Amino acid sequence: MRYSTLSLAVIACLALTACGKRDAAPASTRTPAQVDDARIANAASEPQNWLVHGGDYQAQRFSGLDQITPENIGELKPAWSMDFDTTRGQEATPIVVDGVVYVSTAWSKVYAADAKTGRQLWQFDPQVPGPVAAKNCCDVVSRGVAVYLGKVYIATYDGRLIALDAATGQPVWTTQTVDTEGMYTISGAPRVGGGLVYIGNGGGEFGGRGYVSAYDAQTGQMAWRFYITPGDPAKPDGAASDAIMASLVQPTWFGPHNDYRGGGMVWNAIVYDAEFDQLYMATGNGYPWPRLIRSEGKGDNLFISAIVAVDAKTGAYRWHYQETPGESWDYDSTGDMVLADLTLNGQPRKALMHTPKNGFFYVLDRQDGKLISAEPYVPGITWATRVDMATGRPVIADNAYYTDKPVTLSPGESGAHGWQPTAFSPNTGLLYLQANAHATSRFIPRREEFEYVKGMDKLGLHHFAQHGPYEEPPQRDPNAPAVESYLLAWNPVTQQAAWKTPGSGGGVLATAGGLVFQGYSRDVYMGELRAYRADNGAEVWKHDTPNAIITGPISYAVDGEQYILAASGAGGGGIISAPKVMRLPQVGRLVAFKLGGSAQLPADPPLAGPVVQVTQRFPADVVAQGAQLYLDTCARCHGIGTRASGILPDLKRSATLNDAATWRAIVEDGTLASRGMIAWKGLIPDNSAEMIRAYVAEQARAEATP
Ligand code: CA
Repeated sequence: MRYSTLSLAVIACLALTACGKRDAAPASTRTPAQVDDARIANAASEPQNWLVHGGDYQAQRFSGLDQITPENIGELKPAWSMDFDTTRGQEATPIVVDGVVYVSTAWSKVYAADAKTGRQLWQFDPQVPGPVAAKNCCDVVSRGVAVYLGKVYIATYDGRLIALDAATGQPVWTTQTVDTEGMYTISGAPRVGGGLVYIGNGGGEFGGRGYVSAYDAQTGQMAWRFYITPGDPAKPDGAASDAIMASLVQPTWFGPHNDYRGGGMVWNAIVYDAEFDQLYMATGNGYPWPRLIRSEGKGDNLFISAIVAVDAKTGAYRWHYQETPGESWDYDSTGDMVLADLTLNGQPRKALMHTPKNGFFYVLDRQDGKLISAEPYVPGITWATRVDMATGRPVIADNAYYTDKPVTLSPGESGAHGWQPTAFSPNTGLLYLQANAHATSRFIPRREEFEYVKGMDKLGLHHFAQHGPYEEPPQRDPNAPAVESYLLAWNPVTQQAAWKTPGSGGGVLATAGGLVFQGYSRDVYMGELRAYRADNGAEVWKHDTPNAIITGPISYAVDGEQYILAASGAGGGGIISAPKVMRLPQVGRLVAFKLGGSAQLPADPPLAGPVVQVTQRFPADVVAQGAQLYLDTCARCHGIGTRASGILPDLKRSATLNDAATWRAIVEDGTLASRGMIAWKGLIPDNSAEMIRAYVAEQARAEATP
């Protein structure tokens, strides 16, 4: 076994609990979760812990532990697993502090568990109201908690920020961070630093303005709020962003203000930079999607699809860099931001690296936001030819804005890379991410006037257009290059790929053992944890996990043993990805691995039953109307063409498919609202329920008839 000086020091530390003042008390008697700024800033000195979302304030997702190596990884076996109590999507990055794991699950529930055994210490359920699930696209997920100053912070899907006592899981304070009448949800993890807790929100496909708020970590008192897009110029928000909105942002928007336009939701990445006492916010796409509707077809529309830096204490604007000016293609810039000290052209630079959906790899000077370099990290990008280094702006293709005719562009709306965590190894100098090349979307302008309907994802174009409007065949160009998905190692200094290893993986972790770990989905139900050599991408290990893993694994140590830990369970955007074989949904769980582990992971989930047979026949015109209603209303959760994931129900297998009255009560009256199936009465035309049932019944018949 190979130990560096660092890991020997760590192991000695764990054995003796005598490494400096902080370890003066034995871990068992220490007040739990005493994580402070000094400790996070020196996170590299205690690699046995994973103190914050990105591992440390640089958000590199790099573990200094090196006990597990390419040479001994064959001995990496399950150490324990712990079941959650929900089958919905899991996207959390766990936090580990002094032998305790803190993790959130779907529906914003929180668990604390013994990091050595997986024994549950406490659970907290914030009782998120079911109907809030319909306010966003991608399931009731949570990307994690923050742990700071003895408390655990969870941002709930319905917009609350709750501080829990880390010892007991009991709430200490609660504050509502959003207007609950608005279309806001929170899936992101709170971030901490400088005595404050920072949180954004999501809902960029449903209308509204993104913003980030900061709260005093001890009291929950709001310190500041910063809006990403402008409101009514006649009515300032009374927020930290007011001055910059008036001077810089408003002039980049055209057309009359209204309550729904905006977007720029900060639904994922926020990084606190202790070095400059600065907060970086990664912002989402504009709403409605086409700039033509949003802003008379002109203007950059600050600060959508951008990185915005503010003073962490006051929220005062410092700088921004907009990656996709006038964004119209769902190119969220919300992926992980990674900070590092890089040597570029012989100069040491305080860099910020970013890999947004638009397919370019950006290196910024994070002190002043100046663009250092930007190159495509996947081939085949068609929305822009390059980033002009003189202006710092992309050179956008002439036809990209689909103002009068459809256009097929790459990347598509799913992006060249999504939100799945990235990792940077200071040892290899490479940034690791899941990348998807040659994926496209077809953007088809709507002919009719745009009408905002609160509660509906009215985007301003034909959505799911890449699959064709219902009556048309799929629009993918048969001559287009095949979609390629791979784990990509990128050199930010040379702006070139170091290696690619094919696969459809999720979030990644890099370790000092020379490894990159990645969660992997075989389909929405089943997955693997995989490991690759950090230097050349050779796969050196994999292990089945009963669930798919879409988020990033972490590493920690207890009693001198290194663990790899991941939250497993699909969902998120995957709630509309149909598996080849339908299975019954299974609960999500934590899965932990260590060298010589001897635990048994649960079995794969059983196969789902057959589709329901409906004897009643329906007129073709009713089925056709039902199909269009289904595409517009139901597909975003139950799958395009009724090809469901099963994480949210496959309606062809619903027992109520044969029971018109019960079906109607669910669709119109919301009898399953507690699970997120809201009452659609008023949002869809009368008698829609029966037409949708006719369509689903015919789809079931087609599937059952070979
Ligand atoms: Ca989006």
